[in-house]
Amino acid sequence: MAITTTQQVVDFPTLPARRSARVRQVMRSPLLDELSHGLGGPFHILLPDTFDANVATFESVLADGCVDARIYYAKKANKAACWIERCARQDIGVDVSSVGELREAMSHGVRGTDLVVTGPAKSDTLLSIAILQDCLIAIDALDELDRVILLATTLRPAHILLRWLPPDQPDSRFGLDDHEILTALRRCIDSTSVIEMTGFSFHLSGYRIQARADLAGQLIDHCLLARAWGLRADRINIGGGFAVDYVDAPDWHRFTCDQRAEHFHAGKTFEDFYPYHSPIAGARVLRAVLAARPAGGHASLATMLRSSDTTLLLEPGRALLDQAGFTVFRVQGVKAREYGIVTVDGTSLSLSEQWFNSEYLPEPVLLPETGAESDGPFPACIGGASCLEADMLSWRKIPLPRRPKVGDLLVYLNTAGYQMDSNESTFHEAPLPPKVVLDCADRIRWRLDRHAR
Ligand SMILES: *Cc1c(COP(=O)(O)O)cnc(C)c1O
Repeated sequence: MAITTTQQVVDFPTLPARRSARVRQVMRSPLLDELSHGLGGPFHILLPDTFDANVATFESVLADGCVDARIYYAKKANKAACWIERCARQDIGVDVSSVGELREAMSHGVRGTDLVVTGPAKSDTLLSIAILQDCLIAIDALDELDRVILLATTLRPAHILLRWLPPDQPDSRFGLDDHEILTALRRCIDSTSVIEMTGFSFHLSGYRIQARADLAGQLIDHCLLARAWGLRADRINIGGGFAVDYVDAPDWHRFTCDQRAEHFHAGKTFEDFYPYHSPIAGARVLRAVLAARPAGGHASLATMLRSSDTTLLLEPGRALLDQAGFTVFRVQGVKAREYGIVTVDGTSLSLSEQWFNSEYLPEPVLLPETGAESDGPFPACIGGASCLEADMLSWRKIPLPRRPKVGDLLVYLNTAGYQMDSNESTFHEAPLPPKVVLDCADRIRWRLDRHAR
C-alpha cells in the first residue's frame, strides 16, 4: 500500500499472519476485550484443541506410512502446562532437557517411560532421575556416557540413544562424531548389564527434507551395525525441525525482495529472518521425509524403517504449536511522526525473536477490525512499555489499516511456538503475562493455565 510522507511515496510490504478458523472465531468474539480488561495487561491465548489436531495430523501421516513410531513433544517450545496435559491424555511422549521440564512433565501425568531426555552435558541429578524413571536418555558426549554407566551401576539399567553429530554440521556443538560414536558403541558393548543401547538420534537445524531422510538412512545403517554387535539398536530419533507456515507465499516473496532499511524504525537492518513461509510445513514435512529415498538407499525411508524393523522417534516442538496460541496487547499510546510509534501495555520479552537480533515478522492485527472508521493505512512500529530503546515488538513499520486508538487491542498471531514465553521476565516489576487456556468444545470457555511461573 502506498503511503504519502512529506518526502516521498513509500510502499510498505505487508505480511499478514495466517489464521486458522478457530483463531478467527476467537478473534471475532468479545472474549479478548473482556480478558484484557479483566487481566489488566497483556496475555497469551492457548488453544489445546489445535495442539490435539496437530498431533492427530502427525499420527495419521505415520499410520499412512505404516511405520512404527513415537512422537515426543519438544517441551522447550512453550512452558504452559496445558500441552503436557494433552500429551499425557493423547499418549504421546515429551522431550525434556532439564530437571524442571522433567518435573513439569511428570507432574502433569506423563510417565517416565514416555520421556526422552535431551540436551548437552546433563547434570547427575537429571541423569539419576531419568535412570530411576526409565526415561530414554540421548547421550551427547563420551564423558556423559561414562557418568550414565556409573550411575546406572548403582541405580538401575539406563536406556539410551547415542546422539550423532551429522557430518555436514561439523560446527555444531552437539552430538558425537563418527570416531566418538565407535568409542561409545564399544563402551555400550562392555556395559550391557547396565546400559540398554536402543539406537541413535540427531537434531538437524534448518528445514531440509532430503538431508533429514539421508541422515535417517545412515542411522538405520548404524543400527544394523550395532545390532550385529549384539546391541538392541532398534530405533532412530530424527529430532524436530518441522517447519511452520506463518505467512502466504506471495507476501513473503514480495517482502524478501523489497525489504529495506526505510521499512524499519530507526533504519534498523537485520542480517537474517526466520523463514516465515514454508511451502511444505508441519506433518507434510514428515510425509515428505518418509517418502524420500535416503542417499545410497534403494527404497523410501518408510520402507527402510519397516524392512529393518526400526522404530521412528520424532520430537516436533514448533509444528505441534502451529496456530495453537497468540498474544494480546492493548494499545497504550500512539505517536504520529513521519510514521506512527505505537506503545503497547507489555514488552518485547513476550516475542522472543526480538531477542535474537531478528524480528517476528508476521504482523499484528489491530482490533476491532471492523466498525471503526478507516482513515487509510497507518504505518507504525510497535514498542514495549519499558525504558529501553531496543524494546521493540516490531521494528518494521506495519501498515496498520487505520490509526490505532488508545484502548484498541493488538494481537500477535501464532506465537505459541518459541515466541511467547522463553524470554519473559518480570523486568520493570511487571507481572508475567498470564496464559489463558480456551476450551472450545461447544462454546468457548476459558481458564488460566496451571503454570504460574
Ligand atoms: C529444540 C529441539 C527440538 C524441537 O525442534 P522444533 O524445531 O521445535 O521442532 C527437538 N529435539 C531437540 C533435541 C531439540 O533441541
